[in-house]
Amino acid sequence: MNQTIFDKILRGEIPSDKVYEDEWVYAFRDIAPRAPVHVLVIPKKKLKSFAELGSADSLDLGEYFKAIAHVASILGLENDGYRVIFNHGENAGQTVDYLHGHILGGRPLGFLAH
Ligand code: 5GP
Repeated sequence: MNQTIFDKILRGEIPSDKVYEDEWVYAFRDIAPRAPVHVLVIPKKKLKSFAELGSADSLDLGEYFKAIAHVASILGLENDGYRVIFNHGENAGQTVDYLHGHILGGRPLGFLAH
């Protein structure tokens, strides 16, 4: 499978600002944050995008989503609130073909990201 920048981050070949890691996920700060807190959570078992979740026998979705909520709580976002975004494909602006959830918070967010 194509090696994306997130494959390289997961292998430690490219530096990243890690905020959390466990057996299921790796979470790190986005290089171009769109909110005061902007963290990406990737599953260690790779899928290309949200659209592949239907065939995701290899990925435990419960553990993945629990880990995203855990990361948001570590980041101190639970009380004030946060948003989780998954982009799939061109219209959503997906730029990296490695499934990643964006956690955004730290300020009131409009309904859309822009
Ligand atoms: P997408 O648009 O695919 O949903 O999100 C990809 C995200 O990855 C973008 O928000 C972008 O800023 C972030 N990103 C791209 N390259 C790097 C990188 O090398 N390091 C980090 N930490 N984030 C990156």
